Amino acid sequence: MDIGITKDQAIKNSISLLTEIKGVGEKSAKAMITHLLSMGSTKITEYIKSFEDLSFFTGQCPQCHNFSQAGQLCEICSNTHRDFSTLCFVKTYEDIEAFEKTGTYNGVYHVLNGLLDPCEENANLHNLTYDTFVNRFKTNLELKTIILGFDGDLESSYTKSWLKLNIKGLAETFKRDIKIFTLSYGLPPDMEISKADEITLKTALDNIKEIV
Ligand SMILES: [Zn+2]
Repeated sequence: MDIGITKDQAIKNSISLLTEIKGVGEKSAKAMITHLLSMGSTKITEYIKSFEDLSFFTGQCPQCHNFSQAGQLCEICSNTHRDFSTLCFVKTYEDIEAFEKTGTYNGVYHVLNGLLDPCEENANLHNLTYDTFVNRFKTNLELKTIILGFDGDLESSYTKSWLKLNIKGLAETFKRDIKIFTLSYGLPPDMEISKADEITLKTALDNIKEIV
């Protein structure tokens, strides 16, 4: 009888895949797989279906890289009541959720999909979505205000400086009047935006400071 792969190999492959998820170490992955196996094959099939749906029906907004229905603009980019003259850069889509909860921001976003690493001379730049932003910048002539909505850690500060320099260069090349702001007040330097409470984030958004 052809058994395909052995059970040991199947377990090893699953653990290895899970450890690719940020924050999941080998020990946690093993515990998850043990738990899954104890739930039985029907439950495992449910998980498979759920991940298939995730893969088939969700995607990234081609404009801002927020999560969206596959092949469509996200709810924010397709909302004509949003203010397209103001764009807030964020590290991940979770930061969008956090800003949206404040109910205070009506502009649009751009998910950078990470931050630049100052120790690696921008080696991860190709993983970020700055190129998509450049296309948006060229086509959205309404754009006047950019907010760099990042945390206060080292990578965020470095990314902010890099973006400021490059956006100013773009503005100069295309003769556009663009103002760049940062969240200057109310956000403790070591606090992640996605974990900040609504009042702290609202204060940070209400007190943006222009970078010149
Ligand atoms: Zn979008």
